[in-house]
Parts: sequence; C-alpha cells; structure tokens
Amino acid sequence: MKKLSVLGSTGSIGRNTLEVIKYNSDRFRVAALAARNNIELLESQIKEFKPEIVAVHEDEAADALRKKGLPVEILSGEAGLIAAATFDQSDMVVSSIVGSPGLVPTFEAIRAGKDIALATKEALVMAGKIIMAEASRQGVKIIPVDSEHSAVFQCLHGRGMDEVRKVILTASGGPFRNRKHADLDSVTPAEALKHPNWEMGRKITIDSATLMNKGLEVIEARWLFDLPIAKIGVIIHPQSIVHSMVEFIDSSIIAQMSLPDMKGPIGYALSYPERCSDVLPSLNLADMRELTFEEPDRVRYPSLDLTFRALKEGGTMPCVFNAANEVAVDAFLEEKISFTDITGVVSSTMDSHNVSKYETIEEVLEASETAKNRAKEIIMEKIEI
Ligand code: MG
Repeated sequence: MKKLSVLGSTGSIGRNTLEVIKYNSDRFRVAALAARNNIELLESQIKEFKPEIVAVHEDEAADALRKKGLPVEILSGEAGLIAAATFDQSDMVVSSIVGSPGLVPTFEAIRAGKDIALATKEALVMAGKIIMAEASRQGVKIIPVDSEHSAVFQCLHGRGMDEVRKVILTASGGPFRNRKHADLDSVTPAEALKHPNWEMGRKITIDSATLMNKGLEVIEARWLFDLPIAKIGVIIHPQSIVHSMVEFIDSSIIAQMSLPDMKGPIGYALSYPERCSDVLPSLNLADMRELTFEEPDRVRYPSLDLTFRALKEGGTMPCVFNAANEVAVDAFLEEKISFTDITGVVSSTMDSHNVSKYETIEEVLEASETAKNRAKEIIMEKIEI
C-alpha cells in the first residue's frame, strides 16, 4: 500500500488524483491532504479518503473546517503545508499546487526523502538546479505528472540521453490557433478559458492559449531529463492525442498516445514502474480519423522565443519569466490588460532583470518576488497610458 500526501487536493490535478486513488484503493491510500481555501470540497474529501492530517492555506478557512468536528488534525499556513508535504506516514507526495507557491513544499518533501509525483512544473522552472540536486542527494524519484513529461518519461523508458536526438513536446495551440493575429488583442478571458481538448484550471488554460504553458514545460523538461536546449523541440498537434515524442539517434521516433485526460499520467506516476489498469477509456484510433502536426507560429506565440531566451540566459531568468507571467495572467483575467499584453509584460520584466546565479531557495524566492513587483509596475504603466 502506497501512502500519499496530495498537495492541492481541490484543484484539477488533485481531484483527478483522488479519482485514481478511489478506483485503486487496494494500492493507494491518502495520508495527508492540503488545499487553499475550498473547504466544502475539502470536507467531503476528508470524509471519503480519511487522511490523518489536513493543511489549509488560509487560517480562517482552517478555523471554519475545525468547527465541523472532523476526526482529523487540521493545520494551516505554510507550516501546515510543509507538515503535509513531509508527513512521516507518506511514501510519495503529489505536488499539484498551482504556480510558485508550490516550490517550497515540493523542496521540503524532497528534503524529507519523499518520492514526488510532480505536477507543479514551477518548482523546476524556478529552481530546477537545486531541486534536481537535492533529489539526487536524497535518492528520491521525481515522476512527472505533466502529460507531456509523462509521455517523454514513458518513451525514454530509462534510456540514456546519449541515444536521444530530440525530445519533442506537443502543444494543442489552444483556442486561438487559427485566430487572425490582428484579433488577438481583443480576445476576452472567457474565450481564452475555453480550451479545445483539456479541462484544466484557469491559470494553465490561459497559459495554453499563449503557449506560455509550453514554455514552462520546455524549461521543466530541461531539468527533469537533464537536456541541452538544442535537444528540446515544440510542435503543434491540435488533437492532443500524441502527448509528446522522443526521437532517437537512429531517427526512430517513439510517441505516447492516449485520450487527453490527466488520470492517465497521474495513474502512471502513482504506480510507476507498474501500470494502473483501467484509469482511462481506450483510445479508438479509427475514430480519430487524423492526427496532424505543424510548426508553431513564432509571431502568434512570442512566448516560445521568450522561453528559449530565458533558458539561454539561465540563472534566475526562468524564475523571472514564470513570475512575470503569473502576474500578467492575473491581470488579464481581471481585464486590466489585453491577451497580447501578457507576453509583452513578461518580455519587459525580463528586460529589466539582471540575471544572477542562485544557490538557495531563498535567492529564488527573492528573484520571484522582485519580478512580480516589477511586472505589476509595468502593468500599472500600461494602464496609465
Ligand atoms: Mg502539460
């Protein structure tokens, strides 16, 4: 029986993780849950999965949950989150907190020697060097939950990087793949939140429309698989059936296919090196009719050039790239800036950052905070014009 801490249990990945656990209750058990503030859902999860400890980000939400008299220890704040991440009963931590707040609990879980099922790509984007070094020091496995990285992980199947010519990440292209460039300025948050294939949280859905999500995934792949930049490619695949591919030195390409449903990669991460039966319906290839691929349009998706710039400049720049994007996405969802301003804000924030090397999580967090403040200033300047 594998015991799990699920961080971000009320989010999209967290809910799918609990579904996988529910249908494989002979293999997995929930030891700890952590959520931000959705206590109604958390309460029903506690009743169903009976964790030993629960962490809620906000103190008021934790108080409200304590009043329900559930038979579980309820903690709050960052200390509570870290307690859930490092809980001594847990064998593996499912790290699925959205965005930069996921970095510290993921790092602490690794320090505590827990294997990680990683959905919080930001942990690697912000501090990949430290995270991977600590994982290797502790001998912990980081198994990707991100569908593209799970695909690459499955295609690699333990083969060395010297046999790999290229890792090819697929991207659906989001809802605006065929929209006229001139019209992108005026798309609304509601339109951007309609992803053609995947059901995901708000932040990642906007990131899929700008392709910033693919940018973050390129950086995630760089660290997860220790890849040189030249070995990472991105291709648009609108049907989201091929989740990514690996081309080997003999020009053979291995691809991983399944229906676009996060229960697939989650099941693989939880059960690796075995496979979970029946987590997904079968993919009927004849029903698919066609699977297509195209080069990404670098004008439509300026995020790709920003990604490779961030990787080349290295150090704190990928962290700044991520931080500025978090602020810009919030501003777009609040209708303060236009859709095309998102990458503009990221680019300007990167322009004003002096890259430095980092050795500690504290330095990374400081670079992230400074970049967020700078991005907010840039947005204020835009609003005032
Ligand atoms: Mg993904």
